[in-house]
Amino acid sequence: LSKVMLVGRPNVGKSALFNRLTRRREALVYNTPDSHVTRDVREGVAKLGDLRFRVMDTAGLETSAGSESVLARTAGITAAVLRECQIALFLIDGRTGLQPLDADVGKWLRKLAPHVQVKVLLNKAEGMHADANGALEAAMGEAHSLGFGAPVAVSAESGEGLADLYENLRPWVEKAQEEMLALQEEESLTEDKTVVEELKRVPLQLAIAGRPNVGKSTLLNALVCQERVLTGPEPGLTRDSIRVQFDYDGQTVYLVNTAGWMQRVKVKEGPAALSAMHARRNIQRAHVVALVLDAEEIAQTKKSMRHAEASLAQWVIQEGRGLVVVVNKMDLLSGRENAHLRSLVMRAVPEEIQKLLPQVTGVPVVFVSALEGKGRGAVMHNVNESYKRWCARLSTAKLNRWLAKVMSRHPRRGDKGYGAKVRYITQVKARPPTFVVFVSGAGKIDDTELRFFASSLREDFGLGGVPIRVLQRSSR
Ligand code: GDP
Repeated sequence: LSKVMLVGRPNVGKSALFNRLTRRREALVYNTPDSHVTRDVREGVAKLGDLRFRVMDTAGLETSAGSESVLARTAGITAAVLRECQIALFLIDGRTGLQPLDADVGKWLRKLAPHVQVKVLLNKAEGMHADANGALEAAMGEAHSLGFGAPVAVSAESGEGLADLYENLRPWVEKAQEEMLALQEEESLTEDKTVVEELKRVPLQLAIAGRPNVGKSTLLNALVCQERVLTGPEPGLTRDSIRVQFDYDGQTVYLVNTAGWMQRVKVKEGPAALSAMHARRNIQRAHVVALVLDAEEIAQTKKSMRHAEASLAQWVIQEGRGLVVVVNKMDLLSGRENAHLRSLVMRAVPEEIQKLLPQVTGVPVVFVSALEGKGRGAVMHNVNESYKRWCARLSTAKLNRWLAKVMSRHPRRGDKGYGAKVRYITQVKARPPTFVVFVSGAGKIDDTELRFFASSLREDFGLGGVPIRVLQRSSR
């Protein structure tokens, strides 16, 4: 069913219209695990003649100057719901005439939901037709000036004007329904396709990092094959800041070697310090960082990572970059006699990473030999997948269906009547994926809870190896 949202400042009659359209006293709870959300969003099935659609009613949008915080608290939820709707019924009060707040709502609506069809309803218009002084005409003219086309005069109380509303809504509702059906059929396909198309327009920034002699330059050459080097070493610097451009699977990749970062602790001035600074900046700018380790050394020392490598891995995640670990020089562990060393390395590194970054499960670990030119495909495949996950966008509908499931699996302390309650989740940003949970009630949910959401999102949506940020906002 297509979704229609009722919007308007307080007291214009949203609830009355909601009740008339849904023909029920009590409203269905909106699709979140928290029944208290009813105060903000009610959802029901509207019957208008032979039309059926979902109707959403919000108590949000209180834009009055005195209660700006109310708007701040509810606008997020309202906006999130509106994003899922195709049509908005924008109610104004036919008796009081147009108020400054109505104009604010209009502005907000136009800016926030350019995809939504808006019909202005002049409510409380019962008996106005009969007014010989032209009150209705005047009010309609005012309503027209909001810029959403011809208004419809209705009375949610008496039911007058609903036939007009039907005539006006029918084409929109039918069209929205058709579009939704078409969309649903294509949903998974389209999602992937558009994301991939979008990504290919933006070059992937890949940084190679690691201690000296682990084989970064060799790996860079292996990845680039015969491709052309875009810019040579910057003046004053050696190979450290070579930037190379190449294509992988239709995706342009900018690759930069950040050899210098290891020196940053020891060296405070001179070219080495400059190179360390460049390296840091290149890592911060990268979308994905490939941390290169030396397989032979791991086999000898029985230690997957030195302190510097471990702290780099942590820093990459902290900076919000995707991480791929590349274990190089596997050729030195070839042959039957090295089988146990090989399996030791292949087991130890993922374990170590998991221990080091418990909050980011699923960091890809690739075992290669750059010298033998083996592993280009494996490295680039994992880098590319990591980049896609880093750019992932999850629809609000999908996220809230997920939230409902998670909450029913793990009933939280806060939902038993004390503490903050989780109402709604939405993704506010990609690159890296960043989510906001809207909470209500006393206080906030604690960090453990936020980490739980992050790791569940990662697991359930396959976002391994990329940092996921989950923030909270209080909604009421
Ligand atoms: P960087 O300092 O990290 O850039 O390391 P280089 O790429 O300069 O490599 C350091 C040394 O390791 C060179 O002698 C390379 O030939 C060698 N090397 C790099 N990759 C491999 C590999 O996969 N296998 C082996 N056996 N040696 C490698």
